[in-house]
Amino acid sequence: QAKLAGKNRIHLFNPEQYKQKTQKNQLLDEIEQALSNNEFTLYYQPKINMKTGEVYGAEALIRWLHPEKGLIPPLDFLPIIEGSALEIKVGDWVINQALQQAVTWQKQGIFIEVSVNIACYHLISATFLAQLKNALASYPHFNAKYLQLEILESGALTDLDTMRGILNTCRNEFGVNIALDDFGTGYSSLTHLKDLPANTIKIDQSFVKNMLEESDDYAIINGVLALAGSFNRDVIAEGVETTEHGLMLIEMGCYAGQGYGIARPMPAAALPNWLHSYIPNQQWLDSGNIVRQ
Ligand code: C2E
Ligand code: MG
Ligand code: MG
Ligand code: MG
Repeated sequence: QAKLAGKNRIHLFNPEQYKQKTQKNQLLDEIEQALSNNEFTLYYQPKINMKTGEVYGAEALIRWLHPEKGLIPPLDFLPIIEGSALEIKVGDWVINQALQQAVTWQKQGIFIEVSVNIACYHLISATFLAQLKNALASYPHFNAKYLQLEILESGALTDLDTMRGILNTCRNEFGVNIALDDFGTGYSSLTHLKDLPANTIKIDQSFVKNMLEESDDYAIINGVLALAGSFNRDVIAEGVETTEHGLMLIEMGCYAGQGYGIARPMPAAALPNWLHSYIPNQQWLDSGNIVRQ
């Protein structure tokens, strides 16, 4: 009897669980505060055509500029807000911020495709389309083809119809581009490729990292390139860290690249200067110009 009561008590009040819950709530409060205090900022990482050297885009990547802790990377705080109303708030902020930045750059003569990462929960939320439409409407002179949504693979299969409907509107009505991010790492990559109206596939950096040493990773990239070809999708490789990565990718027919070997993510204000002093990788240019018999 006493034992049973003890067990029941644990069910009623588990101090460990309670602690975790309050900790999580505290973090959520902190993040909400950070949003209203303007402590979030977007860094931008260039995307280039390695064969021609052209810089054609930049991915917006969120950071938390914490007043005491310094720069906090996204994977340290995004998982905390996953699936919450706050994730939608932060996501809307990211879209508006990136759009504003793209417009600012265009006024300076910099026309690049700016891409934003969209969490699945945000994408399929009831307010997503209206918010995006509003954001675009604030900049009537902005051509939506300069905006790309990077959709993460993690989306649940059951939401596929909803995702497809929303992405179709984004692409066909609004004119924004769609990329499948981290392609090949989720369990539904092929379904997404088949059923979602994406223009672009982003090959995950985990495959690129070891492609020079691991024949498996090389084979996967080759396969993804073939798939992309049959589905008429563009491809970009993320995680291009070295000249060798780029050379191999160009040889395989993947020309678009993004990675530390090209540029690290940088504050928006640093991008015009980076563009100004950017020198394309000569070996990539040369390899792209070799005429094959
Ligand atoms: P992601 O979308 O796949 O972004 C690429 C990540 O790889 C970025 O990390 C980038 O800094 C990093 N990276 C770029 N080049 C290289 C390279 O050559 N080598 C290596 N090892 N890493 C490289 P970051 O900025 O820490 O972002 C991590 C993830 O957080 C992103 O992965 C994305 O899934 C998510 N994320 C970032 N910003 C946002 C956002 O605004 N909204 C949402 N929903 N998710 C975001
Ligand atoms: Mg991304
Ligand atoms: Mg990615
Ligand atoms: Mg990734």
